[in-house]
Amino acid sequence: MKKNQILAFFYFTLFYMNISTSKAAGAVQISYTVTFPEAQAHYADVEMNISGLDQKTLDLKMPVWTPGSYLIREFAKNVESLSAESNGSNLPAVKVLKNTWRVNTEGLTSVTIKYRVYCFEISVRTSFVDASHAFLSTTGIFIYPANMLKQPSTIHIVPYKRWTNVSTSLEMVNGDPFTRYAPDYDILFDSPVEVGSQDVFGFDAAGVKYEVAMVGGGNYDKERLKTDMAKIVEQETAVFGENPNTHYVFIVHNYAKGGGGLEHLSSTTLGASRDNYASERGYQSFLSLVAHEHFHLWNVKRLRPIALGPFDYDTENYTTDLWIAEGFTAYYQNLILRHAGLTTPETFLTAIAGPLNTIENQPGAKVQSLAESSYDAWIKAYRPNENSVNTSISYYDKGANVAMLLDLEIIKQTKGKKSLDDAMKYMYDTYYKTKKRGYTDVEFKEGLEKFAGENLDDFYNNYIYGLAPFDYAKYLGYAGYQLTDELAATNEPTLGITIFNNNGKNIVAAVLRGSAAWLDGINVNDELTAINGSPISDPSTMLNGKKPGDKITVTVNRDGLPLTLQVTLLRNNRFKYKIVPVANPGAQQLEVRMKWLKL
Ligand SMILES: [Zn+2]
Repeated sequence: MKKNQILAFFYFTLFYMNISTSKAAGAVQISYTVTFPEAQAHYADVEMNISGLDQKTLDLKMPVWTPGSYLIREFAKNVESLSAESNGSNLPAVKVLKNTWRVNTEGLTSVTIKYRVYCFEISVRTSFVDASHAFLSTTGIFIYPANMLKQPSTIHIVPYKRWTNVSTSLEMVNGDPFTRYAPDYDILFDSPVEVGSQDVFGFDAAGVKYEVAMVGGGNYDKERLKTDMAKIVEQETAVFGENPNTHYVFIVHNYAKGGGGLEHLSSTTLGASRDNYASERGYQSFLSLVAHEHFHLWNVKRLRPIALGPFDYDTENYTTDLWIAEGFTAYYQNLILRHAGLTTPETFLTAIAGPLNTIENQPGAKVQSLAESSYDAWIKAYRPNENSVNTSISYYDKGANVAMLLDLEIIKQTKGKKSLDDAMKYMYDTYYKTKKRGYTDVEFKEGLEKFAGENLDDFYNNYIYGLAPFDYAKYLGYAGYQLTDELAATNEPTLGITIFNNNGKNIVAAVLRGSAAWLDGINVNDELTAINGSPISDPSTMLNGKKPGDKITVTVNRDGLPLTLQVTLLRNNRFKYKIVPVANPGAQQLEVRMKWLKL
């Protein structure tokens, strides 16, 4: 390098550094303040400050869905009174799309946006505010500047009246629990915030600090929960070999009657029934929910289908792999409890027979494949109607069954040395940790094949892309189990309908494909009034004394007019399968069983 060149380089460097410095000084900074002046009327008031702007217009967007819940929810519908100002002057904020407001920012470096959000939908994926607490499902609360999803932001929460706590996985700023930092919008949108007077306790497990925020009271035993939740955490961490969080939060909403959950990167929101903790059944069901949502921190939040991240918050994000993300997780929610010693082998076998029975009794299982069920989650699973039972199958239930079969296959092929756990860890290591991206359909299949030691083309064609009946005898047989149908010997007649009682009226809610009602024309919404001319007092006994093949008349009220239908009763061919041991299992079967059930 010659002197002139060095000087030139020196001046160039200075010039470049100046640009960099001025850019750093002008970098966009975003902060939000959330207040609740009318919490009792279910409002969160948001003020957003953006500085360091250098652009003619600023588009502000609200996500239309929340990851993990595959439905377009149009969160912008709850936003009102949005206004913009800069240096004390109002700026027009014009709606240019259903979820987008445009502000003219020419010549301006900072803008303040104010808006109100109506929050009155109680669920784990929507926001709710009342005088007792606020649950902020962040996708429906925080508008973001278009093309700035990588921007960090700070969130300042001003609690209402006597509220004392904030529970969220977002890190505190300067130790202030009411001021939190989001490194980017993907993290902000994956970090729900609970504000109120929740009961907070913690435990350490797998080297991670766990926080449990109990909202709404309940008859839970804190010490028992700490011990058992820690066991779940340790068992799940052992599957993947590492726990990627340092701090994780369980936000638990306790209702008179509640359930369900939504997974996030470093937290989860659970719904529970506040009086159910004391019963063994209720407690087990809570633990399995904990195991399910916590397992997601690996399976779907990090080990994920390629379509599920980075997210597009403007539209549906399609994948054919929710049977892995949800179905496998549904299988593991039971397996983990068994492997952690929190359930007996019998309880585990009963639990996994649940989804199995649902599939075998659902006509839709012969119509919709698992891959289709996943892809169409947005328009079918999340938008069920009266005919869903005939046209669709849940990727939770069927995916759980597939996971069970694959687990048994891997254990059998490796003579008890490996299991589905090893395939999951391999996929996590390969795609999340090494390639740092999601997996494709083919890549997940190839990962499974490494452990199953065989080509899974037929398996996929039968059970993922096709509608073949499950070969339970083969797979359960590996572990010395079989199915028995407790209803096999029955010969009861049925119409094949479900009925709900509407103010004393027996209204048809669903008609099963192929049933007597289906074939002879009983319709959804018909009010059942008489059988063979006798008024129906109790629908559960209306077919007493009848048998399959009997011809009866069913009188209904359809749209205000009476109608009598001729119906031929058919046998109720529902199944009630139980997983039971075979007589005299061989050594290989026992080897598989020991590994599967951790005996
Ligand atoms: Zn799930």
